[in-house]
Amino acid sequence: MLSAAGGTHTVRRGDTLGAIAKKYGTSISALKSANGLNSDTIIVGQKLTLTGSAAAAIHVVAKGESLSTIARKYGTSVRSIKSENDLKSDLIKVGQRLKIPGKSKVSDPAIHIVRKGETLSLIAQTYGTRVNTIKEANNLRSDRINVGQKLNIPSGGSRSIIAGGSSLLAPVIAATNRLRVDSSRWRYIVCHHSAIEAGNAEAYGRAHKRRGMENGLAYHFVIGNGRDSGDGEIEIGPRWKKQLQGGHVRSDKVNESGIGICIVGNLQNHRPSTKQRQAMNELIGFLKDGYSRSNAEVTVHKLVDKNHTVCPGKYFPYDDLKHFA
Ligand SMILES: [Zn+2]
Repeated sequence: MLSAAGGTHTVRRGDTLGAIAKKYGTSISALKSANGLNSDTIIVGQKLTLTGSAAAAIHVVAKGESLSTIARKYGTSVRSIKSENDLKSDLIKVGQRLKIPGKSKVSDPAIHIVRKGETLSLIAQTYGTRVNTIKEANNLRSDRINVGQKLNIPSGGSRSIIAGGSSLLAPVIAATNRLRVDSSRWRYIVCHHSAIEAGNAEAYGRAHKRRGMENGLAYHFVIGNGRDSGDGEIEIGPRWKKQLQGGHVRSDKVNESGIGICIVGNLQNHRPSTKQRQAMNELIGFLKDGYSRSNAEVTVHKLVDKNHTVCPGKYFPYDDLKHFA
């Protein structure tokens, strides 16, 4: 758990009470009562009094955690944690105490480059701001924007960010904005389940490496179930960061041109969580909206590899895919 340096946290774009609570090892209700909040709504620039433990910035390793999930949790890097703790390898043990170095600066994207299919309102939603705020910041007279246009996304101000909402997608947007994505390359978006309740991108990546996949994790994205990653947390695999083909189906054609999304859990036995569904829908919407062919087919593993798999399971929310048809 990270202690509250200085005892306050200034709300940044994309922050939610849940994320702040997690970061400082406290709870949403503790934050709300410490700050006299009646709802989960927080405002960018707002200063929140923290009620975290007074211990130093020490993280106790929990089951299923890896250096990379911990680094992500605290907004720092694996390398910084390793050097802070004199670790020679990436191996950590449950119960091990790690010093968490000062938070490295992860700057919010202040510039957004317009992608195919984007509208001002979609962009405003993405950044938790309003169409008019973006228009003012860019001296736009109309709502018309062009692909490739650079928009200043103002920070600060009094925009309210509702807990939940597009925050699940925020890391994907931030990471993807830094990539060069050839949207014409991606013709399929293929949904999977992991068929087991445990695991996260890191764990599946290790398993896929052991199975001989040199690029590790076969999927591009993994949506957590709250066990080894957050509920609805979208983990971004190395293949998306490097824009490599997937390895998630038998068909070479679909692997070559298909984005793989894996929902953690055995959906043959139960439905995904509400947050997983929300994350999946937001992610597919985002990918369809400028990061894949506009006519990209949103499908599932068993329809691609017929008679070979039940993936993504009988409780997969098939109806959700209809609005991407
Ligand atoms: Zn599958």
